[in-house]
Amino acid sequence: MLRQYELVERVLEYDPDADEAMLNRAYVYTVQKHGTQTRASGDPYFSHPVEVAGLMTDLKLDQETIATALLHDTVEDTLATIDDIEANFGKDVARLVDGVTKLSKIEQMPENERAAENLRKFLLAMSEDIRVLLVKLGDRLHNMRTLHFIKKPEKRQRIARETMDIYAPLAERVGMYEYMREMQLLAFEQLEPEAYATITKRLQQIRDEDGGQVDAIALDMKHALANAGLQVEVSGREKHPYSIWKKMAERHVSFEQVTDIMAFRVICEDVADCYRAMGVLHTTWQFLPGKFKDYISTPKTNGYKSLHTSLIYGKSMRVEVQIRTREMHKTNEFGLAAHWAYKQGDRPDGAVGWLRDLIEIVDASHDAEELLEHTRMAIYQDRIFAFTPKGALHQLPKGSTAVDFAFSVHTELGTQTVGAKINGRHMPLRTQLNNGDVVEILKGKNAEPQMSWLGFVITGKARAAIRRAVRLKERHEVAEIGQKLYDEIVTRVPAKIGKKALRDALKRLDMEEDEDLFYAIGAAKITDRAVMEALMPGSTEGMADEDDEWLRSGKSLSIRGLTPGVGYDLAECCHPVPGDRIVGLRKQDKGVEVHAIDCHQLATGIDSDWLDLSWGRRSRGAVGRLRVTLYDRPGTLAEMAGIFAQNVVNVKSLEQTQLDHPFTTYEVDLEVQDLAHLTRILSALRASDAVAQAERA
Ligand code: MN
Repeated sequence: MLRQYELVERVLEYDPDADEAMLNRAYVYTVQKHGTQTRASGDPYFSHPVEVAGLMTDLKLDQETIATALLHDTVEDTLATIDDIEANFGKDVARLVDGVTKLSKIEQMPENERAAENLRKFLLAMSEDIRVLLVKLGDRLHNMRTLHFIKKPEKRQRIARETMDIYAPLAERVGMYEYMREMQLLAFEQLEPEAYATITKRLQQIRDEDGGQVDAIALDMKHALANAGLQVEVSGREKHPYSIWKKMAERHVSFEQVTDIMAFRVICEDVADCYRAMGVLHTTWQFLPGKFKDYISTPKTNGYKSLHTSLIYGKSMRVEVQIRTREMHKTNEFGLAAHWAYKQGDRPDGAVGWLRDLIEIVDASHDAEELLEHTRMAIYQDRIFAFTPKGALHQLPKGSTAVDFAFSVHTELGTQTVGAKINGRHMPLRTQLNNGDVVEILKGKNAEPQMSWLGFVITGKARAAIRRAVRLKERHEVAEIGQKLYDEIVTRVPAKIGKKALRDALKRLDMEEDEDLFYAIGAAKITDRAVMEALMPGSTEGMADEDDEWLRSGKSLSIRGLTPGVGYDLAECCHPVPGDRIVGLRKQDKGVEVHAIDCHQLATGIDSDWLDLSWGRRSRGAVGRLRVTLYDRPGTLAEMAGIFAQNVVNVKSLEQTQLDHPFTTYEVDLEVQDLAHLTRILSALRASDAVAQAERA
C-alpha cells in the first residue's frame, strides 16, 4: 500500500502547486473513517481507497480527483456525510464523492431492476464530470485485482460479468485501453477459467519452443527501420489470452488457427516518421491489404490515433503492427486523461480543457452506429434515475414526474405531496425528471392527491394511488349524503334505533363500518327497505314488493341473487340487458360486476366466484351496445335513425369507429327495455338494405 508521503509526492511530481495539506487531510480522513474495517483480503479497508488514489496519480489527475479517490467509499461505508466532506474538502470534492457514491448505489440495485444497458447508460449520464467516471473505473480495476480474495464463487462471477459487460466497454469508450485490457483479462480468468488456463498454457509452450521469438521479430523490424534512417522504438508482446479467445470465438477457429498472436508497436518521433515507417515495413514484408487502417488522419472518436497494419512474417505468421508517436501512445493507453497531463504545460485552461473534450466525446456518442461499434450501447433511453435528498435511488420510466417520484418513494408521501424541489429549486409537480435529479417532495398534512395529476403521471403506481384516493374522497362525500338519508330512514322504523341496532345491522349486511352503509345508501346501492330490514328484521312486512322499491329509489333494474345491500355494476364489456342470461363476478371493493353469460371477459375472471344471477321481475331499461356496419352512401345513416325511431329507442351515443370504404362502422349505445326489444331492433337493422352487418358489440 502507498504510504501517505509517497502518494503526496507522486502528485507533487506532476503538479508542484497541489494543495499538500488537503491531500494529507484526505488520506488521514479515509484512514480514520474506515478505521478497523477490513477487505476480503484481510487488509485494512483503507488500503483500497489509497490504491485507487494511486491509480489516479498514474493518470496524473488533479488534486480534487485524488482526494475523491481517497474518500470515495467513506459516505457509502462509514458514518461520514457529504456535508462533512464539503466542510473539510470543499464543494468540488464533495460533489465528486457524491457522484461516485451514487454510482455505487446503482451497482447495489437488484439485478433484475437494472439491466446492464441501463447501468451503462446511467454511468454515462451521471458522469457529467468525467472525473467521477475515472475514479469509478479505478475503483473497479482495483476491485478486480483483488477479486480472488472473495470467497463466494457466485459473487466473483457476478462482479466479473459486470466488469466484462459494463466497465471494460466504458473504459474503452473513454479511451482507457490499458484499463480495458486488464479488466477484460481479470474478468475472463474468472468467467472462463478453463479457456483461460488452456490458452495461457499454449502461450507458454510456444514461448518455450520458440524461445523469445517476439524479441527476435522486434529486433528485425528495428533493423529494417534503422537501415532506412528511422530512429524508432519497437516493442512486441503476445496478445493477452482474452483477445485470443475472442478471436477464436468470433472466427470459430482453434488456437492453432489463430495466426496473429503477436502484436508489435513502433513508436516514432513524429507523424511523418509514422508514415515512413509504414512504407518501410510494407516493402520489407508482405502485408495484408484489407488490414491497413489509418487512425492518424481519421482518429477514433475517443481520440485514439495510430496506424494499424498486419504483416506476414516468415512463411505464414501474421503479426499486427501499430505505428504511432509517443504522444499518441500515451493518449491511446490512458485516454484523454493522459493527453491532458502530457500537454498540461501548454494548456492554460488545465483540467477543464480535457474534461470538456471528453464530455464532448461522450455526448457525441449519440451517433448510433459509432456507439454500437464501440460499446454495443443502445441509444434509446427508457429509464431515468433520481435520488431522494438522503441519496436513496429510485428508478423510473422516462417521462416520470415529481409526483411519480413521490409515489415511488412511498404511497403515503405521494398522497401528501403539495410541491417539489428539484435539485434544490421549486418546480411544478408536472416537471419531468432527468437522470441524477435530486427530488425533495414537500408534504402538506391535509393534502390530497389531485384528479388533475392523472393528466401527467405515467407510472402505474402513482396512477392507481391517485385514482384510489380520488375514489375515497368521492366515497366520503357520498357517505355524507347517505348519512342524512339514513337519519330519515331510521324515523320510519317502528322502534328506537340506537348505536347497537346500527352495529347489528352492519353485521347482517356484512359491512364493516358505518360509512360503508352510509355510502351504500348515498350511492343508491341499497334500498331503504333493505336498510330497515337490517335495522329491525320484519319491520317492512306488508310493504310493497322489492322491485317497486327499486323503481322508487330511481334504479330501474333489479337483480336477483345478490346479497341485500351489495352494489353492482353492469359490465362495460358485454352490456347485458334484461333478458340476457347473466352471472356476477365479485370485484374487490367494487361489489359485483354483472356480465352476460357468453361474455369473453368471464374467462379472465375465472378465479373469482361466479354468482348465479337473474333479472328482477320488473327490470327494464339497460344500455345495449350494437356494432352496425352501413353502406357508405347518402341516406344510410338516416335509414338507421329511422329504424331506431320506429322501435322507440333512445340513442345514448353513436360513434363512428371504422371507415373502410364502401363501409362505415358505428358503435351505438341504445337504451333498450330488455333483450326482446334489442333483438327486434337488431332484426330490423339486418332487414334494411342500408345495413351490411349488425350485431351486439
Ligand atoms: Mn471502492
